[in-house]
Amino acid sequence: MNSVGTLYVVATPIGNLEDITFRAVRVLKEVDCILCEDTRTTKKLLDKYDIRTRTMSYHTHSTSAKESVIIRMLKEGQNLALVSDAGTPCISDPGVLLVANVYKELGISACVVPIPGPSALIAGLSVSGLSSSTFTFLGFLPHKKGRETLFKDMVISKEMIVFYESTHRIMKTLISLDEYLPDRNVVIARELTKKFEEIIRGKPKEVIQYLTLDINKQKGEFVVIVAPN
Ligand code: SAM
Repeated sequence: MNSVGTLYVVATPIGNLEDITFRAVRVLKEVDCILCEDTRTTKKLLDKYDIRTRTMSYHTHSTSAKESVIIRMLKEGQNLALVSDAGTPCISDPGVLLVANVYKELGISACVVPIPGPSALIAGLSVSGLSSSTFTFLGFLPHKKGRETLFKDMVISKEMIVFYESTHRIMKTLISLDEYLPDRNVVIARELTKKFEEIIRGKPKEVIQYLTLDINKQKGEFVVIVAPN
């Protein structure tokens, strides 16, 4: 009988395709199959590094039948790599349920191996100029229900708060920060590692004024960091 395979959880670039480790490239070349959030997105990375490994889609809406297939592949001894569209899988990205099910099905010491690398959260913190010995990470803020309560909680919280934001909601979120926490410094890390990368730091009102100067500055992907109280 084959021994059980390994599930590698592989971090990939958050924009600049050069941000990948030697180990990640080797693992992606050596595994039997790469589970991709979106096979077309990952193809660009695979083409750049001449990685010819077979791909299979695995995303938030994947069925339990798909998970069963993946677990069966591991049980047969196949080695698999899990990647998301950008950054570290399972960090506000698909994969958590799969990893949990792998432990459930293959036992407490199942072979799940991290291949560390980029994550927008950590990249944003690294250029914030704020001490990040402790922080609260919120992922994406709720769009409607619970949003107001969350901002009220931020007022009380003394810790640094970090979250992800999209182009559609960045201004709305900054306006809420200005309403609830006008005196806290915020850092906006926009389009990290990409052509229009920009780190903006100031009071919410100052950041709003800056982003209003040019609508293009409101575009892209954002990490928002609220300084500790
Ligand atoms: N798992 C990913 C990671 O480890 O970075 C995060 C995935 S989450 C679905 C996507 C969000 O991460 C974006 O909406 C944005 O808030 C943030 N993000 C991803 N890439 C980014 C970048 N290059 N610059 C700033 N924020 C980014």
